[in-house]
Amino acid sequence: MFKKILIANRGEIALRIQRACRELGVKSVVVYSEADRDAKYVRLADEAVCIGPAPSAQSYLNMPAIISTAEVTDAEAIHPGYGFLSENANFAERVEKSGFTFIGPTPESIRIMGDKVAAKQAMIKSGVPCVPGSEGALPEDPKEIIRIARAIGYPVIIKAAGGGGGRGMRVVHTEAALIHAVQTTRQEAGAAFGNPAVYMEKFLENPRHVEIQILADEHKNAVWLGERDCSMQRRHQKIIEEAPAPGIPRRLIDRVGDRCAAACKKIGYRGAGTFEFLYENGEFYFIEMNTRVQVEHPVTELVSGIDIVQMQIRVAAGEKLPFTQRQVQTRGHAIECRINAEDPYKFTPSPGRITMWHPPGGPGVRVDSHAYTNYFVPPHYDSMIGKIIVYGDSREQALARMRTALDETVIEGIQTNIPLHRELMVDANFIEGGTSIHYLEGWLAQRKR
Ligand code: ADP
Repeated sequence: MFKKILIANRGEIALRIQRACRELGVKSVVVYSEADRDAKYVRLADEAVCIGPAPSAQSYLNMPAIISTAEVTDAEAIHPGYGFLSENANFAERVEKSGFTFIGPTPESIRIMGDKVAAKQAMIKSGVPCVPGSEGALPEDPKEIIRIARAIGYPVIIKAAGGGGGRGMRVVHTEAALIHAVQTTRQEAGAAFGNPAVYMEKFLENPRHVEIQILADEHKNAVWLGERDCSMQRRHQKIIEEAPAPGIPRRLIDRVGDRCAAACKKIGYRGAGTFEFLYENGEFYFIEMNTRVQVEHPVTELVSGIDIVQMQIRVAAGEKLPFTQRQVQTRGHAIECRINAEDPYKFTPSPGRITMWHPPGGPGVRVDSHAYTNYFVPPHYDSMIGKIIVYGDSREQALARMRTALDETVIEGIQTNIPLHRELMVDANFIEGGTSIHYLEGWLAQRKR
């Protein structure tokens, strides 16, 4: 096991990784920006090094500063968390070339999965079901593009191979709009991602977002830890996640889960990862793979009893996965609400000082947050200030616990989206389960009237 790990991230995930280190008996070094000087994980870390001013480009994205901090503090490995440099293949490469272990997959795996055309081709080869679409990137010839769209059937979606964060996508309903849409998406993709390649998929009208968590080691073992339903989204940003996904037959999930684990073995994947799918009419369609730990990993931890962050560290240190697929058992139900510092209905960010912070507690309640009374939420970063995660024997019990937990929570001084979560937890359709990725936007539009 490593003696010391550098955490190249901030916020709740920096604290989460630190807790995993502590349990493993590993020392932690955190890097922080001037805006995060007073953060809880900075105070709790064994060592903390300021690496630059508030803007991420000069701190959390500053590769030389992070790597040289690892050098001067004698850290052996670097955990990138999520966001920032976590899916940057060049960073992973530089970390390894400088003699440190990158806690994540190989740079090659990150590179393949970061190119959606390459990722999809790798998945098709590995037997993972994908959305019907073009074979690879679209050609230049407009006639050929029209032919491909006809074969897929409208509506179609044009997506940038290098896209991410819900950007670089355009839905096309008619042939008349097709060529212009392809050209515009190409131009935007070239400017935004430095890669003008685009591809085409069938546009699914009312899918759910269901994803499979996997873990793999360097010894050709790969397991999946069940699924998560993350359909409650606004502008492609998840706000509520749960495990298991309500109402999907077990045998369908088992089949896709086994395919994901098999694909990991085939591509030589290492570490934690997530296969994201759209689910519609009993079918799973792969959309992308995330090669890092995800915000919503705790719901899987609660139903599986497996500490995903510790497992990331252990397999990075060369250990074998300590369980087989048959030993992975999920039980009960877990729900996570992301707590954002924002107006609950207009979604404008609400940074500032938290004058009162009272997290909830009780059986089956977990709070992952770096916030506290008197903590100043900096305006420079993502608005998420924490997550409330509940566990229950059944979905009903988990819902009841989440309602109580949200009622108990007191956060003053800034606005949060807790009122929105409280309304959704008593919404008849959410309670029934299985709402689509468009549900929240429709619900918000209705609510305005
Ligand atoms: P990103 O990396 O930008 O998040 P994804 O490929 O994961 O891109 O797609 C983001 C979101 O776009 C999905 O969660 C879904 O809401 C929508 N989307 C992507 N592909 C399709 C599709 N073929 N049909 C319908 N919606 C899609």
